[in-house]
Amino acid sequence: MTRIPATPRTAPCFRALPVLLAVFLPVFGAAKDWDVYTLKGRQYVSDENVVKFYGFERFSKEGDNRLFRHETLTMTWRIGSESIYVNNIKFNLSFPIEENGGMAMLSLVDLAKLVDPVVRPSYIRKPIVFDTVVIDAGHGAHDSGAKGPFGREKDYTLDTALRLEKQLQARGFKTVMTRREDVFLTLGQRVEIANRQKNAIFISIHYNSSGAKTANGIETYALAPQGTRTHVGGSPWNSPLTGNTSDAENIALATAVHAHVISDIRAIDRGIKRARFNVLRGINKPGILFEGGFVTNPAEAKLIDDPEHRERLAISIAEAVVRFKKAVGKK
Ligand SMILES: [Zn+2]
Repeated sequence: MTRIPATPRTAPCFRALPVLLAVFLPVFGAAKDWDVYTLKGRQYVSDENVVKFYGFERFSKEGDNRLFRHETLTMTWRIGSESIYVNNIKFNLSFPIEENGGMAMLSLVDLAKLVDPVVRPSYIRKPIVFDTVVIDAGHGAHDSGAKGPFGREKDYTLDTALRLEKQLQARGFKTVMTRREDVFLTLGQRVEIANRQKNAIFISIHYNSSGAKTANGIETYALAPQGTRTHVGGSPWNSPLTGNTSDAENIALATAVHAHVISDIRAIDRGIKRARFNVLRGINKPGILFEGGFVTNPAEAKLIDDPEHRERLAISIAEAVVRFKKAVGKK
């Protein structure tokens, strides 16, 4: 076990926290250090250290389960599980929760790249200044994406993106669309458009498909940080591929959008996940890829085909962007 000092921090910014997850954690009186354990060659911190560091008021253990509570924040872990819940929102971890001497252990990378930016986004090192949202409607032209009983993904993504554009403009944001018509763009072209914009964040809109008609729910992807696994497609261990400089902002943006949409439209929560999709890997700004439900699930296909539902999604994402800006904006 090695003891490492906590990253030097400025005074906590109380204002920013409630708007992201409606959470607030006092960090005064909290432990200053992390005790880092090495298990199976990987670094971990203990449940008890998390309680002390963040100043959780209540902590309970029941078998493999751990419950961390503060007035407005509840976090649950389970030993062996590959996900945790924060205020009932599911977060997929890079590494499962391990057990060590009766303690539940969280990997250091999940602490640094997930729990910390989610629990206290105001601590993200440099504030994100943005007034522009690059909106990327997935697929287009011959690339129709997922096909459902009522329509194609490329049409649903474009319609949702155009609705989101209106909703964001109504809230004072500038917007840039990667496409406004049924045209084909390579992933590289989408990245290029995003990377030309200054003071911007990036939101890519998709709908999901699965061979299993029962698959349902909403999931939101942030880029997998360096050395962590992905939750979808290809090799899960592309370790030579780095995360990007926006790792903390990416997960905070994913949290803001995912948590708000899930609670707003009461969708099935598939969780916040990690991936190395080309569009997320290539961009030089905070970005996420949002999967707004399954066009292959009969019930969800019907919903996604309903323009009112897509409008609700667009409004919900736009509101989440406003919250994100408040949470991580100028200090
Ligand atoms: Zn897609």
